[in-house]
Amino acid sequence: MTADDIDAGLTGEMKEVRDTVHRFAAEVLRPASIELDAMHDPADTIAEGSVYWDVVKKYEQLGIGDSSRYGDDLTPSQRALLHSVVLEELSWGDVGLCISLELRDTIAPWAQGFGRTEAYEFFSARKDVGCLALTEPDHGSDTMAFTEPIFSDPSVRPGCRARREGKEWVINGQKAAWVSNGPVATAAALFCTLEDSKDGFKGGVAFLVPLELPGISRGKPLDKIGQRTLPQGELFFKDVRISEDLMLIEGPDAYPMVWEMVLTLANNSMGQQFVGVARAAYDYALAYAKERVQGGVPIIQHQSVKARLFKMFAQVEAARSLARRVAIAHENGGVPFQHAAASKVFCTQTAFEVASDAIQIFGGNGLCREYPIEKIFRDARASLIEDGENEVLGVMAGARL
Ligand SMILES: Cc1cc2nc3c(=O)[nH]c(=O)nc-3n(C[C@H](O)[C@H](O)[C@H](O)COP(=O)(O)OP(=O)(O)OC[C@H]3O[C@@H](n4cnc5c(N)ncnc54)[C@H](O)[C@@H]3O)c2cc1C
Repeated sequence: MTADDIDAGLTGEMKEVRDTVHRFAAEVLRPASIELDAMHDPADTIAEGSVYWDVVKKYEQLGIGDSSRYGDDLTPSQRALLHSVVLEELSWGDVGLCISLELRDTIAPWAQGFGRTEAYEFFSARKDVGCLALTEPDHGSDTMAFTEPIFSDPSVRPGCRARREGKEWVINGQKAAWVSNGPVATAAALFCTLEDSKDGFKGGVAFLVPLELPGISRGKPLDKIGQRTLPQGELFFKDVRISEDLMLIEGPDAYPMVWEMVLTLANNSMGQQFVGVARAAYDYALAYAKERVQGGVPIIQHQSVKARLFKMFAQVEAARSLARRVAIAHENGGVPFQHAAASKVFCTQTAFEVASDAIQIFGGNGLCREYPIEKIFRDARASLIEDGENEVLGVMAGARL
């Protein structure tokens, strides 16, 4: 029996998609990610001529970005399973690039999801590159912790606010340097706060914002420890005027519920992506353990190394089972937030632990930039804070039990 037999739900065609995406991850994402990760100045990663743009071009040629493109003949469960497999393979190649690529085609689907026909037509025609802007320099966890008192504290003054003026909205303020795809996006799903909110962040408002509008500017791409292949940067808004057609939801009755749905979707995705990171770390450690000779034998023949590899293998298997279970349930009508948070927190923690154990198996070589494992460790480290810091997600999910 092989790993293929364990994945019993995969049809022959789904396996072909998996294998194609795996080749793309191995031949395009991995080499590009090593080059991008090593760049000293993050601005160079997205400069003209950067390999980042080759990756984007080849990804678009591959045509697997949106799970609806997998075909009408799949059931929702099969679609979710296949998308999970695709996310795992892409993230096995490089998770920063996977996140950047996955965010690209998100703006028109937002409009469609909220039933905004005009906005959908507008953004579909533009083929926008998307990002999601929520957190602010002075408010990270505060902006997302919908179960906590701080979320509805009227004394908190959020840094990015919007007010209605006739048939337009006017936006002022700033979003954090952490906005993924901020430096490359052409449109943003912007979550900010009503100017006259009496409920703090709970009195929020969400828009789809074309980023070429007058009054919008961007910060420099962020320099950071991990996921250096994912361009991130601030968005600044100064008296930015947008049409009311581009507003998605408004006010304390709708905003917290919608934000919870968005975070559920994002956490669901993160869980699946970091299975790929955990597997990449395990694969590298296994291959190294078969090659590296110490004590006169390949180190895999030492009992302790074998046992450690088995523990890593079991962790990856457990993470994958959880991530896919949540993803399939989500596609079949949604999951409560705590399930998606469990997937995100468990899978990112698994990726971090497996990457750390992999470094240990590499010994001193694991610490050198010449070997790939320290990069995976840095990428996994960032995930413990990304899309909700894991402790805060635990507090929020705990409130839902
Ligand atoms: C790789 C990456 C990608 C990201 N992408 C995006 C993006 O696309 N868009 C976007 O808007 N943001 C993005 N973020 C921002 C991310 O959501 C925030 O970093 C995260 O929510 C934490 O906020 P913070 O960094 O301000 O930390 P803080 O909120 O300041 O937290 C600092 C510490 O205080 C603790 N803490 C804070 N509040 C509480 C509380 N109520 N109870 C208990 N402990 C608390 C936390 O546990 C943490 O240890 C990204 C971040 C990373 C690392």
